Amino acid sequence: MDLKGKKVLVVGLGKSGLASAVFLRRLGAQVTVSDIRSVEALASELPALLDAGVMVEAGGHGLLTFRRQDLIVVSPGVPLETPELAQARSFGTPIIGELELAARYLRGPILAITGSNGKTTTTALCGEIFAASGLPSQVGGNIGVPVTALIADSANQKWNILEVSSFQLETIEQFRPKIAVILNITPDHLDRHGSMENYIAAKERIFLRQTAEDFLVLNAENAETQHAATRARSQVFWFSGARPVRQGAFVYQDTIVWRPSEQAGPEPVLRVDEIPLKGAHNVENVLAAVAAARLAGIPAATIREAVRNFHAVEHRLELVATIGGVEFYNDSKATNVDAAIKAVAAFSGGVHLILGGKDKNSDYTGLIPSLQERAAAVYTIGAAADKIADQISGAVRMIACGTLDAAVARAAEAARPGDVVLLAPACSSFDQFENYEHRGRHFKQLVQARQGMESWQSASV
Ligand code: ADP
Repeated sequence: MDLKGKKVLVVGLGKSGLASAVFLRRLGAQVTVSDIRSVEALASELPALLDAGVMVEAGGHGLLTFRRQDLIVVSPGVPLETPELAQARSFGTPIIGELELAARYLRGPILAITGSNGKTTTTALCGEIFAASGLPSQVGGNIGVPVTALIADSANQKWNILEVSSFQLETIEQFRPKIAVILNITPDHLDRHGSMENYIAAKERIFLRQTAEDFLVLNAENAETQHAATRARSQVFWFSGARPVRQGAFVYQDTIVWRPSEQAGPEPVLRVDEIPLKGAHNVENVLAAVAAARLAGIPAATIREAVRNFHAVEHRLELVATIGGVEFYNDSKATNVDAAIKAVAAFSGGVHLILGGKDKNSDYTGLIPSLQERAAAVYTIGAAADKIADQISGAVRMIACGTLDAAVARAAEAARPGDVVLLAPACSSFDQFENYEHRGRHFKQLVQARQGMESWQSASV
């Protein structure tokens, strides 16, 4: 695709939009970016763009801007049904996302990881395993560095380990991973995708271009990923925390094993108790990483060492402090119901769960069994509090707190030694916070303030 001199519009100025614009300028394209945010809101991005010779339209999208383009690169946050994009599509203007743009220029094999939950953890873990193996590799996508920013350093033998979301997959055409992983598909982002069918279809696009030479790693315990196998042309490998699989990674007698084919015997990789992360869901993430790494030819001993040295990514079931025998866990990234269920299931009982935030058209009733089994109480916050209360009241003691500050205070007062105070809100954060990181940091500050208070009290006479 020669974009020199071509008119390209980048819609949405997030991290990946910015990276796309800079990359397109480097290709010699005439680049315009359009964002609905105001000039003031874009103040920190503007200088770099203007320096690079990019034209900027802020505070809305002009229909004319969308008309005279050879290509439109849309950011993952922008719904494809916006009127401007619909019109451009009707004129036949190609519309792709940053991932597809990058895929056309990126050299080297791709390991792509998607799923409703566990993408960042598994991508980070794969990054560590590949780094430990000495295979040349780089990590990017949703996890941090946009894929267009990886192109300059890509090389034919160098692996690109990419976290990819359903939004990015919606607009791929040529993107073809050598190894694709779908960790799980559970309800999420239904406000944006409209239906579970659309969401599943977006996730399955990860193997759209794969052939029989490529590998697809799927969760054997997830109904949606089981279905996906029937539509794939690539070689399917499974992972399971519950039972042996024909070929792939599974747990056998408390050990993670790898079975390269139906005919081969399983080879041990590491014991489950060597995994330094909490919860059965993280065993699944490790299984997926083991499968991907073995398929890339990395020896079991290298994988074992890298897993043993891995630490939880911030805001993913992260232990903040133990105060008076009560553990405080920050799982602010649990922005959907399944992640919150998995977080609660990582503890044996006495969980004081902080739930709520901005609703994503979710059904919270799925939480009821694990709450009945393991929760001492639920503390609700944010805009979704009433809906959550309606759906799960009666199942567990519920305390309406409004804010995270109040919820931490109430939960900390109620918790007894051996209990857990867990922020796993099952909602996005945008009603009260800038993003989930902001929410997680605020939680940690509240906990640390309590810790400071406690050590001061116990030190005083
Ligand atoms: P993603 O990038 O897909 O959002 P993360 O690794 O950031 O995944 O984890 C997101 C949330 O999901 C966290 O709350 C984490 O504890 C939880 N989680 C991680 N792995 C899984 C999994 N395999 N299944 C369900 N929940 C998970």
